[in-house]
Amino acid sequence: MGGQFVFLGTGASAGVPLIGCQCAVCQSSLPYNNRLRSAGWLRVGEKSFLIDVGPDFRQQALKHGIERVDGLLLTHTHFDHIAGIDDLRIYSVRQERAVPCLLSQESYDELATRYHYFFKKGKNLTAQFSYQVMNDEAGVLGFEGLSVKYFHYKQGDMKVTGYRIGDFAYLTDIRDYGETIFSFLQGVNCLVLSALREEPSHLHLSLDEAVAFARKAGARKTRLTHLSHFLDHEEINQKLPPDVQAGYDGLTMEFEVL
Ligand SMILES: [Zn+2]
Ligand SMILES: [Zn+2]
Repeated sequence: MGGQFVFLGTGASAGVPLIGCQCAVCQSSLPYNNRLRSAGWLRVGEKSFLIDVGPDFRQQALKHGIERVDGLLLTHTHFDHIAGIDDLRIYSVRQERAVPCLLSQESYDELATRYHYFFKKGKNLTAQFSYQVMNDEAGVLGFEGLSVKYFHYKQGDMKVTGYRIGDFAYLTDIRDYGETIFSFLQGVNCLVLSALREEPSHLHLSLDEAVAFARKAGARKTRLTHLSHFLDHEEINQKLPPDVQAGYDGLTMEFEVL
């Protein structure tokens, strides 16, 4: 069976353009240089899943006509990946069902603090979720009919979950990882990987590091996400190899659900 992944956003935490920035990329009229916060829409068969739900979610859902959400796969709880979560209320109301949410124990604990009102008993007018918590460092599980492999890595002190569905994998906000990640990625043809800028960063891969990572993973096609305003779409794509290119908002990748 085939699956489809749509980049809802490919921007770094503040998006591109940055508020009030006069740089060439922020002022660019090229649509590719307009980047909403990083997130993805995954469709397999009739089902519709989100990977993260950042502050631009409402705009992304309207733009792409996301009519239903059968599940949310959360990578971690930084603002740029979760701040749109209240807007999932429309789906729990319309679908008359709590939205299933897949997340790590760490993400669950953080959510329970910051979004304590989701957890109140009784009549609750907020978005409603049911939670499937991943306790292990890596594993395989069934999530709403989807066979999902997951793997954890670190971004500073934050534990982040990487997901694999068939020959597709989504790794965002990756900085420190164990070498076993490459066995997790074996056979992946479509890889979404985050990279912030050309210079090294303590929280993200640089472009060069992302290329080296993609090569080591052996992915046939890698598209970069979480890109900052230091990166001009066309300029970096000329420098990058053909198999590792910048993603952009609205780009679609087809993959095989093995
Ligand atoms: Zn981020
Ligand atoms: Zn700028």
